[in-house]
Amino acid sequence: MRPFPPGPKCPPLKGSAVPASILDGKKLASQLREELRDEVADYIENNAEDPTLAAVLVGEDPASQVYVRNKVQACEQVGLQSRLFRLPAETTQDELLALVAKLNKAKDEPVHGILVQLPLPAHIDVTRILHAVSPAKDVDGFHPENVGRLVQGNPRFLPCTPYGIQQLLLRNNIEIAGRHVVVVGRSETVGKPMAIMLMQRGVGGDATVTVCHSKTRNLAEVTRQADILIVAIGQPRFITADMVKPGAVVVDVGIHRTDQGLCGDVDFASVSQVAGHITPVPGGVGPLTVTMLLFNTLAAARQQH
Ligand code: NAP
Repeated sequence: MRPFPPGPKCPPLKGSAVPASILDGKKLASQLREELRDEVADYIENNAEDPTLAAVLVGEDPASQVYVRNKVQACEQVGLQSRLFRLPAETTQDELLALVAKLNKAKDEPVHGILVQLPLPAHIDVTRILHAVSPAKDVDGFHPENVGRLVQGNPRFLPCTPYGIQQLLLRNNIEIAGRHVVVVGRSETVGKPMAIMLMQRGVGGDATVTVCHSKTRNLAEVTRQADILIVAIGQPRFITADMVKPGAVVVDVGIHRTDQGLCGDVDFASVSQVAGHITPVPGGVGPLTVTMLLFNTLAAARQQH
């Protein structure tokens, strides 16, 4: 028997699995940043003002230092200004509140967006700090006023990770409306806002959404019903091929450093043989999260102007 000719039109062999197509977050992030660079340049030309992000880092957590450095570099890449405030781990809650209050009011040196890098040292009440950030400058979208607006379908800022995932789906022409999305994880920063955004009316929404968490019974039975499966649970390679409907879109939010390198909450090796589309780790959701923070900073400047 003659072999199939090589090339993309070569049909799959009977019974062999067809690997999923990759949803390339890194590539999309770089396209979005190109677009944003033009928008930032227009804004500066028309308003004679630099949109500026203030990043606050408390303590020496190595991962947080990397995240903040990436955010500051990403600002530079698109023409946004950034101001980094590094505080020692012993900083008191009152001192941090005082800095946030100063940044909320900043006038001489403008600050349009404020980012307080998490986690904060254990002696600081995270909620107190996040609630102290002016809602107009809350580019992470964590302030209760902004969460309330999101729920009501009138968002000021979309939280960065769900915002990036929604863009990834839209820009890859993945149909969302009317499809069954299963979100595994109900964190305030990812799972919960993701579910809310996808159930809203309009573009990027109109999905039928199910939210799962650690108390969900028969999780695999639920995840197998997903047309789009979004996983943010913080458990390395937890979602395996038997938990995924063939052809489903799988978005992996998790990030874990293991002896074998970085991995996500999804077992990429097995799930990519079943899914229709899948995000890699690294190079999936992560680069988009930072990119959407930049979009929110420009949006904050526009709103405050
Ligand atoms: P989180 O605050 O730790 O919340 C985890 C959620 O997953 C909780 O709702 C928990 O349920 C649920 N969960 C845990 N184990 C489960 C299980 N076995 N079955 C079903 N549900 C389970 O998580 P997060 O902040 O959303 O982060 C999740 C992962 O995403 C982490 O690896 C984090 O590092 C990563 N992350 C990545 C990005 C990015 O840009 N790529 C951004 C944010 C987070 P309960 O509510 O019942 O406890």
